[in-house]
Amino acid sequence: MATDLSLLPDAAAAKRWLPSKDQAKKIFYAPLLVSLVIQCCAIAFQTAHLIMYARSNPTMGTRESVGMMLTLTLFPAGLLTLGCYSMSFKKQWIPRLWKRANEGRFANGSLLVRSVDFTVFWSALISLNLFNYIHLAMSIKGLLLLFAEYFLSIVGSVFLAICLLKLNAKKSRHVACFWFCLVTIVTTLVDWERGFLPIEFLPRLKEDKNTKPLFKLARQDYFDTKQIYEGERLNNAFYTRSLLREKIIIGDYLLEGNTPSSVTAVMAHELGHRFNNDLTVRLYGILLSQTFWNVVMFYIILPSPEVYAAFGFDTEPIVAAIALRETFHSLYSLALTPLSNLWSQHVELRADRFAAEMGYGESLIKALEEISFHKTGNWLYEAVYCSHPSNERRIAAIRKQMAQMR
Ligand SMILES: [Zn+2]
Repeated sequence: MATDLSLLPDAAAAKRWLPSKDQAKKIFYAPLLVSLVIQCCAIAFQTAHLIMYARSNPTMGTRESVGMMLTLTLFPAGLLTLGCYSMSFKKQWIPRLWKRANEGRFANGSLLVRSVDFTVFWSALISLNLFNYIHLAMSIKGLLLLFAEYFLSIVGSVFLAICLLKLNAKKSRHVACFWFCLVTIVTTLVDWERGFLPIEFLPRLKEDKNTKPLFKLARQDYFDTKQIYEGERLNNAFYTRSLLREKIIIGDYLLEGNTPSSVTAVMAHELGHRFNNDLTVRLYGILLSQTFWNVVMFYIILPSPEVYAAFGFDTEPIVAAIALRETFHSLYSLALTPLSNLWSQHVELRADRFAAEMGYGESLIKALEEISFHKTGNWLYEAVYCSHPSNERRIAAIRKQMAQMR
């Protein structure tokens, strides 16, 4: 193996508090186990909850029953994700990719070339999760945009890999870590802008007799009405923003299937997210967690041959540290999903309250009954699997808010 695969220069000083190979394995499996236990409990509680709900609502229609049963399918999907992580660790997928890069057609290339080769393959594999949204891209234009996002995601990973290799040449670990954190923050902000790409290709929402109240409300709230778009084949609406711009997307199915007052109530909910800066807080949260994992990469992963060995490496390629960091980051995010879901549910209820305070409570309840299929859920199930509270909880909270306002 090439001798240029060295660790950062001050590795010896950090050795005292680095994990052993066994500890690194435990750090890998702990979030998997936590997630498995939580998901098993959540699905058991949800099953019991649905049985009791069906008994207390004997007149429930077939469509509603099937919709409720479908909520249980999130469990096998969750198990599959955990299985994939476990399998990738056991079968040493990351070291195998590195081996492929060193034995393939660039075997005699420089470290930079082999590192880029590794990153392209690794990133092409993990970015496949973008295709989870393929059902939303049901036109040629939508598919092309999805492939463009996939391609840009790989380009972003390669850029970060090259930065890490270049920064590794710095004498001080602290300086290298600082610059890499900064580069990651800038890359994430650019990547966040990339999320606007599909929206730019949507038509702007036209103001007519049905959408007039919605436009009036937007102007009342000083929202630029040129930034309201019509979503294609979408029975929902959402608000999105970056540091530079903000947009609201109203689905075409939502407009067709609901009264103007219900659609305006949904607009009021989206303006509630804007009022409370929910998207900005989310973006800062992402930047913070990435910075934390970058620090872990520089001070625990990079100087530790034992962490590399736990994954099945017999050398310590610098570029692979990004893949190891990403694996730990994803695993711990998975285990902490209930916390992020609870926060997300809190901001949804707060946006509902905002709409109710603006006088759209009843209309929002009607819209929720039309567009949401998540009727009811046990609290643990909702914390584990749902970013939005069930209709039952949302409607009860809106009614409570309306009663307080009387
Ligand atoms: Zn919302």
